[in-house]
Amino acid sequence: MPKTHYRGRFAPSPSGPLHLGSLLAATASFLDAKAHHGEWIVRIEDIDPPREQVGASDAILQALLDHGLQWDGDVMYQSHRSAAYDTVLARLMQEDTLFYCTCTRAELQGHPVYPGTCRDQRRPPARLAALRLSADGSDQQWQDGLQGPQQWSMSEVGDTILKRKDGLYAYQLAVVVDDHAQGISHVVRGIDLLDSTPRQLFLYQRLGWQPPAFSHMPVILDANGNKLSKQNHANPIEAANAAHNLRRCLGWLGQAEPPKNTTSVQAILRFAVEHWQPTAIAGHRDIALT
Ligand code: GLU
Ligand code: ZN
Repeated sequence: MPKTHYRGRFAPSPSGPLHLGSLLAATASFLDAKAHHGEWIVRIEDIDPPREQVGASDAILQALLDHGLQWDGDVMYQSHRSAAYDTVLARLMQEDTLFYCTCTRAELQGHPVYPGTCRDQRRPPARLAALRLSADGSDQQWQDGLQGPQQWSMSEVGDTILKRKDGLYAYQLAVVVDDHAQGISHVVRGIDLLDSTPRQLFLYQRLGWQPPAFSHMPVILDANGNKLSKQNHANPIEAANAAHNLRRCLGWLGQAEPPKNTTSVQAILRFAVEHWQPTAIAGHRDIALT
């Protein structure tokens, strides 16, 4: 698919309901897409059943609609995408860039970067194995839309797992295969995923695919300096507070405040699209919860 057109996305994992942190990511990616007259799609990243919460996918979609964040086209579910992931894994295997890793958690303890132990294991072993992508010594660089020039050495990133020992596809594989398949031109997401980007750029390179542009947004930290996340039980957001929630997000994003008499979520979003100023958050890595 040609990438001359802006197509952005929001790609939540259904491990819990939408909270303010994920609403912020959804809102920023939506506003950036719409300010560029682009499309904005939603993809449910349900590739990790043990971490999935029953009903979370539907709850997230409903919460997006409650906040006026209407997506374009159909929602894609990664749980339906196994065939596409297998095709890519088979290709990488044939190109000799994958290996079977049988290391245990204990064996890898104390190694911040995978030490390359199993790199020569190119045939399926008898034991359960993960599939890792062989890194090289290349530098991965990109001009981040919000964080400026970035440079990571693959020797410090290491050999990324693309399929886990338990048989589940890894996020790094699924996100690249699907962003490519869906013709995503711009990824706007939280800075907590910054260190995933060199892994993803390296995989794009291996596959000969053109990567999207990346912008990493600051994350909201609570009073204890913890990121708001499903894991630390950030409160789910209420439909009744939708307009207020959007106003809070715009405030965190340093955006112009919609006039007081702008009350519907649609009108707030229209105002926010017209006044969208991503430079207001450029260079910020976190935002205090206020
Ligand atoms: N599914 C990922 C998450 O919820 C986000 C993926 C992405 O934006 O690249 O953390
Ligand atoms: Zn290993």
